[in-house]
Amino acid sequence: VKNSRILLVEDEPNIARGLLFNLEAEGCRVVHAGDGETALRLIGGEEFSLVILDLTLPGMDGLEVCRHLRSVDARLPILILTARSDERDRVEGLACGADDYLTKPFHLQEFLLRVEGILRRSRWYRPSADESERYRFGSNEVDLVGQRAWTRRQGEIALTDLEVRMLRLFLQREGETVSRADLLASVWGFAPDTETRTLDNFIVRLRKYFEENPAEPVFFITVRGRGYRFDSKGGRK
Ligand code: CA
Repeated sequence: VKNSRILLVEDEPNIARGLLFNLEAEGCRVVHAGDGETALRLIGGEEFSLVILDLTLPGMDGLEVCRHLRSVDARLPILILTARSDERDRVEGLACGADDYLTKPFHLQEFLLRVEGILRRSRWYRPSADESERYRFGSNEVDLVGQRAWTRRQGEIALTDLEVRMLRLFLQREGETVSRADLLASVWGFAPDTETRTLDNFIVRLRKYFEENPAEPVFFITVRGRGYRFDSKGGRK
């Protein structure tokens, strides 16, 4: 968290001041933008490790800012703040490419934990800015930029866009249970009628590529009734 450069996009001065103060107390360097246009201008000019984005902004709204942001930087972590506890906002936010969200009002401690979690994951996932998105787990190697993978079972594989999106989400959220709703929203976009069977078929495909024994997966694990979890160590300590 220390020395992370954070862009805080929030139009309410009191909330902005409070968050800024507390983030700086944790050792972060924070740049504040009061609206989306300013935020996008700042993004173009300097490098940030995280964007904290309020959804209700004057002018361009937060979802739109999020979409623009994603179109210029596919990997910059985005934490959405929303006053609305509406499920649709959450799903749309994730579909726009946000990494996480927090509903207002939130406890400061929860906010800081969330920020810390995103920064930790993104460092783990992106060791340095110019590194291509290559990752190894078990006897597999994945190159998300080149959309290829090398596996013991299948040799070299060309990955589809959807497979890359799903792998990216699992890698970013290593060790966490990712709900089926989040997977559907992040990988297929906001499409409430996407069949959940489609999702299951994708998981089956990933297991065929990457698991030694697809019938007994150790990397892409089913969490009954909740979703799926990626374990890069394949169950080993
Ligand atoms: Ca607001």
